[in-house]
Amino acid sequence: MNTPAPSAGAPIDRASLPALFAPRGVDTHKGSFGTVGVVGGGPGMAGAALLAARAALKTGAGKVLVGFAQEASPLACDPLQPELMLRNARSLLEGEWGITAWVAGCGIGTTALAANTLSELFVLRRGAPLVLDADGLNLLAQGDVKPNWGPGPVVLTPHPAEAGRLLGLSAAQVQADRRDAAWQLAQRFGAWVVLKGAATVVCSPDGSRRTNTSGNPGLATAGTGDVLAGMLGSLIAQALPFEQAVAGAVWLHGAAADALVGHGIGPIGLTAGELADAARALRNGR
Ligand code: AMP
Ligand code: MG
Repeated sequence: MNTPAPSAGAPIDRASLPALFAPRGVDTHKGSFGTVGVVGGGPGMAGAALLAARAALKTGAGKVLVGFAQEASPLACDPLQPELMLRNARSLLEGEWGITAWVAGCGIGTTALAANTLSELFVLRRGAPLVLDADGLNLLAQGDVKPNWGPGPVVLTPHPAEAGRLLGLSAAQVQADRRDAAWQLAQRFGAWVVLKGAATVVCSPDGSRRTNTSGNPGLATAGTGDVLAGMLGSLIAQALPFEQAVAGAVWLHGAAADALVGHGIGPIGLTAGELADAARALRNGR
């Protein structure tokens, strides 16, 4: 774990993310913008998966499906976002949905069903990119899920406590050197790492690291991590250059919070779902 990381990359700011603002081609259709599959939302936690899925849709994904980690979907349809297709996780894993990026772990819980679902997903994704968040990371830290995720990129999105569980450190130790913690995780898991919190660090599997410049403490509220996971899956599914998709989602999420504060919708009382609307406006140049 002592391999030195490459020197620091440029800070993540708007000017460094041209792909985020590229106009849509005229001759496009929903298939041009990818299909996101969200696997999460165990009993009592359906909202986490819905927040991720809604954010994926509003940041431009062509289609979004949710596979709840429950015997059956707790909802026939999302009344606030009826464009989403709601199933159980088994249906998503076994169907031919053409999913081009997976988001897994949001509210998935730490049950045996959750662990089995993730282990199957690692195989059945067949190389499609995977964003792994929240209890997906906790299951990994506990050893209930092995990092046998096969070929295809993986993005881990821990907050400092989740990063600490994965590294056998306290959250305070992670915070003491965030850039090093991100690099240790990237090496250990052969994955992209988004180490969240103020000044989020993005680290590629080969150790290039960039620090985000957007965001504010309005984000310190329930569900904002789920929204970030959905945005990551969305931009990856839309086939932005991979580094631009990861850094772009991180910047857009923070910039959405900054825009909401500018409109008096935060920092106090900002809600996670509002970020998706603000992010949509930013991508559209507003
Ligand atoms: P989670 O803890 O998984 O819900 O994720 C929280 C999200 O909000 C992450 O994207 C964090 O980077 C962001 N966040 C939380 N607190 C702050 C803060 N004080 N400043 C900037 N971003 C924050
Ligand atoms: Mg979280």
